[in-house]
Amino acid sequence: MQQERLWQTVLGDIEITLSRGNYITWFKNTALLKQTDEQVIIAVPNIFIKQQLEKKYASLIAETLTKNGVTARSIIFKIQSVPQNIINERQESAGPAPAIISSTDTTATQRSSTAGISTKQHQAPRLFQQPRSNTNSLAHAYRQGINDRYTFENFIVGSGNELAYAACQAIAAHPGEKYNPLFLYGGVGIGKTHLIQAVGNAILAKKPEARVVYVTSEQFVQEFVDALRFKKNTDFADYYRSADLLIVDDIQFLAGKEKIQEEFFHTFNALHQASKQIILSSDKPPGEIPTLEERLRSRFVWGMSIDMQTPDFETRCAIVQIKAESHTVNLPNDVVDYLASNIQTNIRELEGALNQLLAFCEMRGLEPSIAVATSLLGNAQARPKHITPRQIVEHCARYYSLKLDDILGPKRDKDIVLPRQIAMYMLRNELHLSFPKIAQELGRKDHTTAMHSVEKITAELSFNQLLRSAVHDIKEQLYA
Ligand code: ADP
Ligand code: MG
Repeated sequence: MQQERLWQTVLGDIEITLSRGNYITWFKNTALLKQTDEQVIIAVPNIFIKQQLEKKYASLIAETLTKNGVTARSIIFKIQSVPQNIINERQESAGPAPAIISSTDTTATQRSSTAGISTKQHQAPRLFQQPRSNTNSLAHAYRQGINDRYTFENFIVGSGNELAYAACQAIAAHPGEKYNPLFLYGGVGIGKTHLIQAVGNAILAKKPEARVVYVTSEQFVQEFVDALRFKKNTDFADYYRSADLLIVDDIQFLAGKEKIQEEFFHTFNALHQASKQIILSSDKPPGEIPTLEERLRSRFVWGMSIDMQTPDFETRCAIVQIKAESHTVNLPNDVVDYLASNIQTNIRELEGALNQLLAFCEMRGLEPSIAVATSLLGNAQARPKHITPRQIVEHCARYYSLKLDDILGPKRDKDIVLPRQIAMYMLRNELHLSFPKIAQELGRKDHTTAMHSVEKITAELSFNQLLRSAVHDIKEQLYA
């Protein structure tokens, strides 16, 4: 543990000398394994990172170690994954997890950090944990779920999102007074979460003690279930009903859950009557969410409903540029155009493609160019839009030479469990299915298994190169 503390100090020093993208790509999943006068052994997750650290960063590491009182004759990089508990602890002490450049997964890591469904929250329900520090513990509790990465400043306004942007700005300026509730709806990856989180950040910037609560509806459901189990219903109700701003993301997942809709109905009324602001998002308008209670449906349209559309080409170009700048990369215009014209509907995918390109160039020491972009992303455009859940499950089974019945059946052998978990992960990331739906596709009753599986794979992908290439290969075959 002493080594971990030392390494965290070293990482802290290194972090401020590098760009965020570089730091995350090369250093985040490293650990100090051993340290003597002779040598320092550092665990790295894969061969690329090993080579890069040896080639480019060895002297920076040596200098930073010396600065922190450690001089060794040699530094050795060893490919070995960093235990998950260490990574979790680092995240706990560092606050919200930063965005991660990942070549295979473009959504999950970011989502888990912003959507609030993180591993630690499922170890014990969030509401019932002891606050980590006594100072400002209430403010701390209410800051949960808001990621300061999402601001108005780094949101590009253009056709498709300008109305939503204007409404969110008006709300940030006068919460609870205008559009209440605000109901934003639209397709996947077009900036709903970004915008509604930006409202939270803007309000907190003006008034740090404001009780801003952000949850995804799935998290709301999970907490409600936990509250019942731990007999903390009142705490649950009090927590949500004392918010100044309540943001519930992806509300469509409340569909079909009667008890929770009832609870939410009361929360909604309490807040609305007290003129507290409510913001909701969904992938479809209130009228099209199936099995949503009529009384909720009618309330959702009391304020203002706004349809967010895919941004146009110019807006997409500007988004690519601002994201590249956040990695301190100046991208040539033709590459910006290439990305923006090839990925049209989903900004998250657009961002994923950019990250993939930047990580690739970084690893190979190349400048981003059209040639690299085409060779890397060329086949991404050929992807068909409609893949079925069953196809995903079948491909996962086939990749691991399993029978479909095995993966759908009750067996818990290790060599069946992993492919099953990967299938769940891909159902979530490729098709954005809800957890109950994922469980159902795999013949499981309990949706928490699906939740844990997705979390597990998401976490593991950040350090397990083998797993990353497996998921990559399955995807290739799926879209071939
Ligand atoms: P949704 O919630 O609609 O599925 P997100 O808000 O998660 O989408 O957006 C996906 C990604 O795209 C995020 O990283 C977000 O920052 C980015 N993004 C979407 N729209 C914009 C925009 N107009 N300007 C800057 N970034 C954007
Ligand atoms: Mg979202």
